[in-house]
Amino acid sequence: MKTSAIVILSISILITSCINSTKDKPALITEHIIEHYKGPIIDMHIHAYSSVNPMFGLEYKNPLTGKVYYGSESIQKHQEQTFEKFRQYNIVKAMVSNGALWHQSDSTLVIIGENNNNSIENLKQKHENGKLQILGEVAPNYQGLLPTDESLVKYFDLANDLSVPIAYHMYPGGPPGGAYFAYPKTRAFQGKPLQLEEIIFSRPKMKIYIMHAAWPYLEDMKALMYAHPQVYVDLGVICWGLPKKEFHNFLRGLVEAGFGDRIMFGSDQMVWVNTIGEGIEAVNSADFLTIEQKENIFYNNAARFLELTEEEIKKHKSL
Ligand SMILES: [Zn+2]
Repeated sequence: MKTSAIVILSISILITSCINSTKDKPALITEHIIEHYKGPIIDMHIHAYSSVNPMFGLEYKNPLTGKVYYGSESIQKHQEQTFEKFRQYNIVKAMVSNGALWHQSDSTLVIIGENNNNSIENLKQKHENGKLQILGEVAPNYQGLLPTDESLVKYFDLANDLSVPIAYHMYPGGPPGGAYFAYPKTRAFQGKPLQLEEIIFSRPKMKIYIMHAAWPYLEDMKALMYAHPQVYVDLGVICWGLPKKEFHNFLRGLVEAGFGDRIMFGSDQMVWVNTIGEGIEAVNSADFLTIEQKENIFYNNAARFLELTEEEIKKHKSL
């Protein structure tokens, strides 16, 4: 296993105050070492756009963190800047929603995601032509639909029949308070992951990952992953959109429950390409993760989920 990592050594000094004497109780020095993973990364949650996004060129302030983001200025710039981040962070593969738009630029890196806005016929055609590698991002809650909605059955069946993994969007969906200004049909309860249980159970071969890991429904997510060992999650949007402590608490909850080998990195960069680096940093700064656990999250789990060949893996790890 090759892991290049830099070691960041932070030393915190806690001086214990002592009523009687500081001579008897010397300053307590604790060393806290956080290793940053620097190997190849697979990003399971990236977006490409075929038309102008309303957030292009605009400023957005995240009310949860207070951080301000600037949207890429054009479709072209967005693609260029995202690829720049791929190079900067050694991202060797990325699941790209609307990935056909970028596939020609790097067909080894881009995994083509197509969503359920396509007809079944259209998706089958794309699959035959090698233009459908993941069915996703499937995000019907923006239309107010639950996963159990009748209209979605055929998409789950398609994923099952074609052995194409499905990337299913659960909570959080849209920005905080989004129902009041952008997505009037979304409701928080639509994001509860246990709704997927019968869908998954009745299609045991179907590969599925839950996008955004269905934050904040940690208990539900643990239950689903416990009951159905084929379920994976990605960390899209929650790795940069939540206050870091909350993200870490949630991630820690999944890891400590024993699911560290089914968590995949995903940024969900949307129009804000800097979030890719922020998301990576948020995982790297998790002091409860070992470097091996980080390597699993950043690369190994996705490599297994995507069934990459030994040869591909070897190549990525020698880069
Ligand atoms: Zn997304």
